[in-house]
Amino acid sequence: MSDCGCDKAKANIYELLRGELCAEESAPIREHLEHCASCQDEESACARLTDVVRRACEEERENCAPSDLRDAILRGLNTEPSKA
Ligand SMILES: [Zn+2]
Repeated sequence: MSDCGCDKAKANIYELLRGELCAEESAPIREHLEHCASCQDEESACARLTDVVRRACEEERENCAPSDLRDAILRGLNTEPSKA
């Protein structure tokens, strides 16, 4: 099991989700994710977080995100229970 690459996969999930890995780097990680429920959990959590942050940033750029909404989002992230 130590050969499954969880450490490498989890360490690179954010980069993978942001599209910062080249195909050569991302392929083995994507492959690992397909077979590893633990890393899939990590990936979906990271994807949700990345999505929320990106949307908050986009809305802020359009000047339609009041700061208290951003605070609420950040508070939600901090208090998010470990199981969805
Ligand atoms: Zn894994």
